[in-house]
Amino acid sequence: MSNYKLGLDYALALDQNDTLRAYRNRFYIPKDKNGKDLIYMTGNSLGLQPKSTKILVQQELDDWANLGVEGHFEAKNPWLNYHEYLTDNMAQIVGAKPIEVVVMNTLTTNLHLMMVSFYQPTKSRYKILIESDAFPSDKYAVESQLRHHGFDDKEGLVLWKPRVNEELLHCDDLETILNEQGDEIALILIGAVNYYTGQFFDLKRITQLGHKHSCKVGFDCAHGAGNVTLNLHDSGADFAVWCTYKYLNSGPGSLAGCFVHERHAYKKDLNRFTGWWSHNKETRFKMRDAFDQLPGAEGWQLSNPPILSLAAIKASLDIFAEVDMEQLTKKSEKLTGYFEFLLKTLGEDTIKIITPSAPNERGCQLSIQVKNADKLLHNKLAKMGVVTDWREPDVIRCAPTPFYNSFEDVYKLVETLKSILDE
Ligand SMILES: *Cc1c(COP(=O)(O)O)cnc(C)c1O
Repeated sequence: MSNYKLGLDYALALDQNDTLRAYRNRFYIPKDKNGKDLIYMTGNSLGLQPKSTKILVQQELDDWANLGVEGHFEAKNPWLNYHEYLTDNMAQIVGAKPIEVVVMNTLTTNLHLMMVSFYQPTKSRYKILIESDAFPSDKYAVESQLRHHGFDDKEGLVLWKPRVNEELLHCDDLETILNEQGDEIALILIGAVNYYTGQFFDLKRITQLGHKHSCKVGFDCAHGAGNVTLNLHDSGADFAVWCTYKYLNSGPGSLAGCFVHERHAYKKDLNRFTGWWSHNKETRFKMRDAFDQLPGAEGWQLSNPPILSLAAIKASLDIFAEVDMEQLTKKSEKLTGYFEFLLKTLGEDTIKIITPSAPNERGCQLSIQVKNADKLLHNKLAKMGVVTDWREPDVIRCAPTPFYNSFEDVYKLVETLKSILDE
């Protein structure tokens, strides 16, 4: 960490030596009124658009215009199997086997579908454990599942909390909760990378702890997919869900990913909601046959998917396929390490970084508390061309992403912050 240096020249030299630097040019970088690139640090919220997206989406628009319904079979990329074109690359990104992964629906929808299968409460084992600072949508989703099954949504919710005056969570505390009430907990749902603090959890350890107490374990990887090495298969988790519009750069509201561990792939008796897209592909269009469950994650699909969204995801995953997650996270660690180094020069009594400093406990995002700051600081940054993400009460989240952010971006971000604080 201390082998980083100060100064713009050093940032430019790091960019010069960055083997991934050409990728920035594969994305549209939003610009200010004068046509200057904004310093875009919110890839954790909405990833930038690859220049290839338009081409892939246009292809499907053209095929639809020219072929109509025949596009299902005759399009350059026949629509009928379109979601399959994404599976291998997506599996690679999240560290899963192809049979464990499918792209479908949106994130919260997938979370509910997974809970239909993996939250099967009984009178004595019905609680759901989440992080106390879970993403609101996840919290609302699990509360509604509790109510749906006739339980009280407060009594049934177990919160894994930080210790007094701390922000981060300790796995030891999770272990304590499980030792005390593990036999009442049906499901553990954790954000693999917490959206607020940026803490990346030990997924394997959490899964092992949960399974030891016979709880089902699922992860929301919205902030993990395309950001950190997830190794979902090896984690042993029962399921995982994630969106593709954050680090996976697939456009606002784009379809989401879903992982179901291989050991559940052929369980036909597992409770689930189904539709014609969960039915055997060979006989799907006979339309008269009794339901015949597709194996693997695909067997949780309901509908034929929106091809335009799949095309945008394909454009992004094709870029990921050129660069494996190892290469990407290597740059990411360096970029965020440099960011952390520069922030520390502003003084630890001014700036507090909530995110863990160990590279294996975080992705690219740093969550920063600035002493006495309010949203005004965030607004000033925006005015000066730095796009960050504000979370009440006092946290600025910045996510330098390895595909399109440069070391120069990080340097300028910290310089801008410094100039505002010096005012
Ligand atoms: C972004 C995010 C969501 C958003 O859910 P959608 O269903 O895509 O609107 C949910 N959970 C987490 C943890 C997120 O980071």
